[in-house]
Amino acid sequence: MMSKRLVLLALPLLTCLCCVAGAVGAITPMNHRGWYGYSPDYGPGDGEPPEGGNCDNAGVVYPDNPFGGWPTDYEPGEWGLVTFYYCNIYPDGSPHWGVDLAVPEGTTILATTDRAIVRQVESCPDNEYDCWNYGMGRYLQIEAQIRVDDYDACVESHAGDTDADDCWLNSGWLATYMHLQSVTVSASQIVHRGEALGTTDNSGNSNGTHLHYQLNSPAVGAVDPAPTMY
Ligand SMILES: [Zn+2]
Repeated sequence: MMSKRLVLLALPLLTCLCCVAGAVGAITPMNHRGWYGYSPDYGPGDGEPPEGGNCDNAGVVYPDNPFGGWPTDYEPGEWGLVTFYYCNIYPDGSPHWGVDLAVPEGTTILATTDRAIVRQVESCPDNEYDCWNYGMGRYLQIEAQIRVDDYDACVESHAGDTDADDCWLNSGWLATYMHLQSVTVSASQIVHRGEALGTTDNSGNSNGTHLHYQLNSPAVGAVDPAPTMY
């Protein structure tokens, strides 16, 4: 069994060409199937990839971004796990719209906002050829919820229940987790910060176990997750 240190040394070698999210126009699913020898009979699946963004957003912190924190339970804050940042460039010249973390297979992924509703889930059969989904593989997407303006009064009117549905609004902000091994939540489920959502793997357009973590603003599309991952 390899030591943790050896695993960490080996992981960056499994370079990520990964996900096509937001770059479907630039890197078509057909191209990806070609690269990896997938038959046109498989995929792209029912997934709806999140939009891309603008590389002027790299490093920008949006004050209304309700997401924050490290998206896995494996060595939070270990920036050496990042193999591909926001707006790093794919070989074909198109930008990458998330952050890739080369964490071990089976690492638990976490909700990174106080409260969210699960929007899209693709848990797929246990067959990689049926789990392409535009390159996202097995994936899930959550939408952050934010407190209503009169949150305190709202909570009071709900007998002090800080989690009352009436006191939270959908924000339009999305977090998408790709290339998963398992998804342990269901569409429309409410989740809370730190809650386990699934585990990592290498499904979809990925050539090494990693998590692609992407944040999308309702105003500007994809934004750089890194400034809010501390
Ligand atoms: Zn990625």
